[in-house]
Amino acid sequence: MTQVQSDTERSTSDGTEVTGVGIVVVSHSRALASAAVALASEMLQGAPVAIEVAAGLDDTTFGTDAVDIKEAIERVNGAAGTVVLMDLGSALLSAELALDLLDDPSARDRVTLSPAPLVEGLIVAVVAAAGGADRTEIAAEAQAALLGKTGHLVVPTADEAGAVATPPNEEETVAVFTVTNAHGLHARPAARLVTEARALSASIQLRNLTTGAGPVPAKSLSRVATLAALHGHEVEIRASGDEVALAVEQLLELAARRFDEPESNAVPMQSESKTVSGPRPASPGIAIGPVCRPTRTPIDLNGIVVGEPGQERWRLGECILAVQRDIEQVRAATAAAVGDDEASIFDAHLSLLGDAEMLTDIHRRIETGVGAAVAWAESLSNTEQEWAGLPDPYLRERARDVRAVADQVLRKLAGSPDSVVVSEGVLVAHDLTPSEAVELDPDLVLGVVLAEGSPSSHAAILARALDIPVVVGAGRDVLRVPDGTTVILDGSTGELYVDPPPGLVQEFSRKAAALADRRARHLASAQEPAVSRDGVAVSVGANLGSVADARSALAAGADGAGLVRTEILFLERDQAPDAHEQQAAYDAIAAGIGGRRVTLRTLDAGGDKPIAYLRMPVEQNPFLGHRGIRLSLGHRDLLREQLVAVCATARRFPTSVMFPMISTLAELLSARQVLAEAAGPRGLPEGLRVGMMVEVPAAALKIETFLPHVDFVSIGTNDLTQYTMAAERGNGAVATLSDALDPGVLRLIDHVSRAARGRVPVSVCGEAASDEVAVPVLVGLGIRHLSMAPSAVPRVKASIRQLDLERCDVVARRALTLAGPEDVRKVVLAELAQTAGRGRCDE
Ligand code: PEP
Ligand code: MG
Repeated sequence: MTQVQSDTERSTSDGTEVTGVGIVVVSHSRALASAAVALASEMLQGAPVAIEVAAGLDDTTFGTDAVDIKEAIERVNGAAGTVVLMDLGSALLSAELALDLLDDPSARDRVTLSPAPLVEGLIVAVVAAAGGADRTEIAAEAQAALLGKTGHLVVPTADEAGAVATPPNEEETVAVFTVTNAHGLHARPAARLVTEARALSASIQLRNLTTGAGPVPAKSLSRVATLAALHGHEVEIRASGDEVALAVEQLLELAARRFDEPESNAVPMQSESKTVSGPRPASPGIAIGPVCRPTRTPIDLNGIVVGEPGQERWRLGECILAVQRDIEQVRAATAAAVGDDEASIFDAHLSLLGDAEMLTDIHRRIETGVGAAVAWAESLSNTEQEWAGLPDPYLRERARDVRAVADQVLRKLAGSPDSVVVSEGVLVAHDLTPSEAVELDPDLVLGVVLAEGSPSSHAAILARALDIPVVVGAGRDVLRVPDGTTVILDGSTGELYVDPPPGLVQEFSRKAAALADRRARHLASAQEPAVSRDGVAVSVGANLGSVADARSALAAGADGAGLVRTEILFLERDQAPDAHEQQAAYDAIAAGIGGRRVTLRTLDAGGDKPIAYLRMPVEQNPFLGHRGIRLSLGHRDLLREQLVAVCATARRFPTSVMFPMISTLAELLSARQVLAEAAGPRGLPEGLRVGMMVEVPAAALKIETFLPHVDFVSIGTNDLTQYTMAAERGNGAVATLSDALDPGVLRLIDHVSRAARGRVPVSVCGEAASDEVAVPVLVGLGIRHLSMAPSAVPRVKASIRQLDLERCDVVARRALTLAGPEDVRKVVLAELAQTAGRGRCDE
């Protein structure tokens, strides 16, 4: 417990009495902060300055902790106050949070959070503090700390200074090119030009000689677009500064190559029946219906708290980075699915995000005191209007690109969810976030076609749970299919037909009816146990996210719930549900599935399931970052609250609890410790089973370490495959790599299954559990518990009844020795064909 000290008692952690302004160094790395303090202390030559460090989660784990920062501030925050220097990202958020946590709220008036760069700022701050400067002086010194460096290194170009109308003094080189692109210098070629110009050190201005528009800086996409340079227009290049000859030559060459745009500029897809290239099956079933588009929920800018300009600039930077990462991912997936040409449209979006001219304008607005969201919205809206007012209809259309990018960043800034509203039909969209997918209404959405995405993305999983047929990776052409056009999609094969002839509609209607027939037969025997031909019982559970899922699972004959994704309860809200709300939800799920055992997985946020109110830092690789149990252990109160609810449900219903993404024994033991705290003096509820998910290859390989501490393990093949194959599960570009039937993944499953045999039960709750080809291999490897989307339960039960587990054992052993998933598939399919033949003979 932190003691509030009086100013006279205040002393740093090494006992130094605090008299002047205190300095707190906040960094993600303890080593970095200590080294920076050591470097700064060199400048002091013994003069006393109270410096405290709040850095790293421990000596080696990167991160920042608001409580640590709060305590560091309280140790040095005497009458003269404190200046806090931070490194990056969440350090700022944690420091802000620390101010809210101060035991004495009035003490925050004596604290300045400095936007200064950490090392440079710290050095000048400690020197100023040692010289007796007050808090304002120290903060100002720190903020100016970069001036020396920038003065020495930065030579602003005319472009960067925004001096579009003033010709530079140096000798200029002038050249002219004619635009030969069919649609003129529209977004894609303009982006290509801007990218090339940015790589050149010369200062370059462009003018549309045909219309007189310009000059504009060639390094700003938002300005180049305003040239409205159409096919046949002449554009003047004026270059000055370094390497002018090279600059002019390269731009002329680029213009001669039509800015690398192919001659047959993409035209909208004709409304004729044809398959769209590249779609992949992602959720079984056939859908026939009119194309409908998602309408996104409005962005709510009200209620955003506006910080100091430095904080607002930082927030904007973080959100732009996050959107950049999203777009780069979509671009890579598009390039892989339909080619680089189609993908290049995203270059225009990326260019806009990095448009120095636009950012300068936004930063200027922020300096006047408006928040980042409003500054961004105003500036982008101006650019959009400018583009929308261009004379050429094709260029006018490109204003949509500006809107798309503007909205993406605004949603991040506002923390507004990305949920979608649709009318009845087949939903065609770029991609869906998990929070959008979870809100799809199966009564309205007959099927989903995604231009991007991958079958193991959370969006696809959630759609499977909703029993909505999905194909992914259909390519951008599909986005041009007009609303209302009839499409057929087969989510089992990946077939997709646009505007099919009546014959094809009839054929697929027949197939859909046959499918419905088969389903009805499976459903009729769904409540019977799944026992193989040779008499081995396999429990077939369901993966749930809601009470509705639980009811479907009960109707589908699920033998309990092998996985309840509790994070669904935490998404799309302003704060976490409290223990009462959680318990009510868990009780309702347990009751919904008829009191059969439910396995509640603790919050598995992070990765592609961000939770705004947890103030999660923007990470370069979120799937390798703070997700699953790592995130929960960083928010122990939240985890404890959840486990209180789990214990309460476990006292009323048969319940298991499991922790996601366990990588180390220390994590498992910490999680168990929080569980013990949550259970309180009564101890763990009788009948509560405690398990862990095996999703990290390291956990699979050292499973023996964990076994003494768990009652069961559950293999999450979605993540285990992603991490084993180093192929991100939602990234369509690597979707074929992300295959749970890869023998590398199977060997890990085999290892876990063997190690746990006779000790604790092992289940598989990833998507592989419902894959008709994977099931014989999994049971062959000794897995006796499967869990899947409720809709898959009757089918999987039916397929297990056809299996001979002795044969599966042979097939699985063979699979472990094969080279790739395709070979495994061949072997299993051959076996299934034989079994089916034997089945017919037996009948
Ligand atoms: C898994 O990773 O296989 C799993 C079941 O968890 P999720 O899909 O929710 O990450
Ligand atoms: Mg997982």
